[in-house]
Amino acid sequence: MIKAVLMDIDNTLLDFNECAKYAMRCSFGECGLEYTERVAQTFFKINTMLWNDIEKGILDKEGLYKVRWKYIFRELGINTDGEEFEKYFLKYLSRSFSTVEGAHDILKYLSGKYLLSAASNGPQFEQDNRLKNAGIYDYFKNVFTSEAVGYPKPKKEFFMICLEKMGNLLPSETIMVGDSLNADIVGAKNCGIVTCWFDYEQINCPPPSHADYTVNSLAQLKSFL
Ligand SMILES: [Mg+2]
Repeated sequence: MIKAVLMDIDNTLLDFNECAKYAMRCSFGECGLEYTERVAQTFFKINTMLWNDIEKGILDKEGLYKVRWKYIFRELGINTDGEEFEKYFLKYLSRSFSTVEGAHDILKYLSGKYLLSAASNGPQFEQDNRLKNAGIYDYFKNVFTSEAVGYPKPKKEFFMICLEKMGNLLPSETIMVGDSLNADIVGAKNCGIVTCWFDYEQINCPPPSHADYTVNSLAQLKSFL
């Protein structure tokens, strides 16, 4: 019987793509740089690549902050200190809070039935702040981040510590909902946690075998939770 729900934050509850675009527009503006669609495309390409490295354990968050904008600016031919610019970008990212459709409604529903916690690889202060700004922070009993837990998803330790902190729950009593097949689904499955893949990008590929459930919208969670 499911007692607890772990929910990923970015591209599950908060629309990271919209949040990042907001942060880019603001930080480019503050630094007197011209923001274009090409900036966004380059950011998403390089950011995804670097987050894959984080999930593989070959890069940490500090390393990400050092190189992310350095690589992006190099590709765009912009002569600006990327490490310094990252501070502006993170400042605005922590203020960004576009929610995914149905986020409020599903969190209200789930928090009334289950022990509800967030589980994210983002930084603690920023994730807390974004959830508060979005008005959804109070639905969660815990906001677990890799920074506070000490391990990132998909590491087994991340999920084991979450289970322990939720009152020594069994993996079979917990479901993980998230958009990342590797970080959220493979990671949780390796611990025996029940998994639900949120096909946020609407890839509509056949449901992956390691996901116990697949949904295309947050509202669909109500059909089995
Ligand atoms: Mg995500």
